[in-house]
Amino acid sequence: MNSGARLVLLGRQGAGKGTQCVRLSRHFVVPHISTGDMLRAAVREGTELGLMAKAVIDAGNLVGDDIMIGLVAERIQADDARDRGYILDGFPRTVAQAVSLDEITASHPLDVVVDLVVPRDLVLSRLSARRVCRDCGANFQATGTEPSPWTCENCGGDVVQRDDDTPDAINKRLDLYETQTQPLIDFYGESGRLAQIDGVGSPDEVFARLTKAVEQRL
Ligand code: AMP
Repeated sequence: MNSGARLVLLGRQGAGKGTQCVRLSRHFVVPHISTGDMLRAAVREGTELGLMAKAVIDAGNLVGDDIMIGLVAERIQADDARDRGYILDGFPRTVAQAVSLDEITASHPLDVVVDLVVPRDLVLSRLSARRVCRDCGANFQATGTEPSPWTCENCGGDVVQRDDDTPDAINKRLDLYETQTQPLIDFYGESGRLAQIDGVGSPDEVFARLTKAVEQRL
């Protein structure tokens, strides 16, 4: 058994982070912690957090830093993440979140921050065609020939378009990525913790690049 890993995956929405995080999670035997998935679960369950977050998410805006930091601090201290590590997907998204993450993880620092690089025009077309299973969260690409209603091949759930995958919200999220999240690349680059990986290619090719880069730094 390998000794786990503490990873952050950065990259534009639609860069393939979700797909690669699932594989990395199996490979390093650590939980995949997606703040977007956590928020969507809260929305589905109708919790106080979910009720507050729904309008923010649907508009393509960011949920407040304090809320997100509290959520992640609690999650990475859970039994499955505390000792072996985790893969953070969608967090941090701002420099303030990254600074707090360093404080929270001071006793067990991050091993590496990976930036999955995919050009904006490519992710734009992927996001417009993205469909997700409402139950298991699996991602699919619509080609226009799918049956309606579309049923998930993994679990039989409904495959739908995310409420925030409208053209306006997609463009807004990509703009926010440039202004809020891109500065993280400098933040982690300056402290020597960043690995930039070409995210264009088949899932297998990208996964091979990712594991090689991460294993070099463990
Ligand atoms: P994602 O699935 O990562 O694209 O996240 C979906 C939405 O959840 C984002 O567009 C934000 O509204 C919200 N969200 C997820 N992670 C964060 C975060 N770290 N900070 C602020 N908002 C977040």
